[in-house]
Amino acid sequence: MQQVCADVAPVVGTGVVADYIPALAKVPIDRFGIAVQTTDGDMACAGDAREPFSIQSIAKVFTLTLALEHRGDALWSRVGKEPSGDPFNSLVQLEHECGIPRNPLINAGALVVADCLVSDHPRPLDTLLQRVRSLSDAGVHYDDTVAESELATSDRNASMAHLMKSFGNLENPVKAVLDTYCYQCSLAMDCCALASAFSYLASGGVHRGRASNTGDVVRIVDPARARRINALMLTCGTYDRAGEFAYEVGVPAKSGVGGGIVAIVPGRGTVAVWSPGLGPSGNSLAGVEALKRFVSLTGWSVF
Ligand code: GLN
Repeated sequence: MQQVCADVAPVVGTGVVADYIPALAKVPIDRFGIAVQTTDGDMACAGDAREPFSIQSIAKVFTLTLALEHRGDALWSRVGKEPSGDPFNSLVQLEHECGIPRNPLINAGALVVADCLVSDHPRPLDTLLQRVRSLSDAGVHYDDTVAESELATSDRNASMAHLMKSFGNLENPVKAVLDTYCYQCSLAMDCCALASAFSYLASGGVHRGRASNTGDVVRIVDPARARRINALMLTCGTYDRAGEFAYEVGVPAKSGVGGGIVAIVPGRGTVAVWSPGLGPSGNSLAGVEALKRFVSLTGWSVF
């Protein structure tokens, strides 16, 4: 990991921060952190791995996991499983495809998932926070400043939600769905907490308590569902760079415009990286570079 830090140093600080969400425009671009948790529960971290950041779209995997618990396969009548090949916040396919988003890891799909959570849980944001806290054994919170900043500038996400509502693909009022969506994106946690929180996807669906050292094993999803969520992350988790990412890195991953990326190596572990400078598709430039370097040094891959 020290080697990865040294190798990516020239890329850290390049790219642009996500300034379309005003609160994220203020995040220092020169940060870089990496944390790895193995499936036996060992954790290692380097750089700024203990600095909390806005996980943004990475939260889409947690909300998908929760929505599948209530909806099961019925969810797939409202959202697809295909990569979009378009930017994460694009509206174009929605009109052609009658309000059914391509997949749950782009904004439109995550809005449908958020709609399910609003219907299925009396306090969906409390349910989500509790789940993520239980998976990460660490400080996780909603960043109100980031959430309100996004809500104040969420015209594009609101357009998607209204369009889907007009096609009958939202059960709740647009405002309730958008509020939930913007707050889920504002979840703040550090690389170590993220690596821990995603470990169930590397371990066939079970989470092992870490900080408590109690060795608690909790089943979060069954092995088949873990495989399927990983498949969606591989094909859709880095948006219109998913093909390139699979080619270069070769593991399921989910990125967010806060600069985080979490990668899953089934049977081996999870790798969480963070660096706020983004490339054109909204993926962290140094983060992608770090994962590329990490898998080539370790040989961790699904291929
Ligand atoms: N909150 C962001 C948005 O809706 C999430 C996008 C992302 O992280 N790619 O635009």
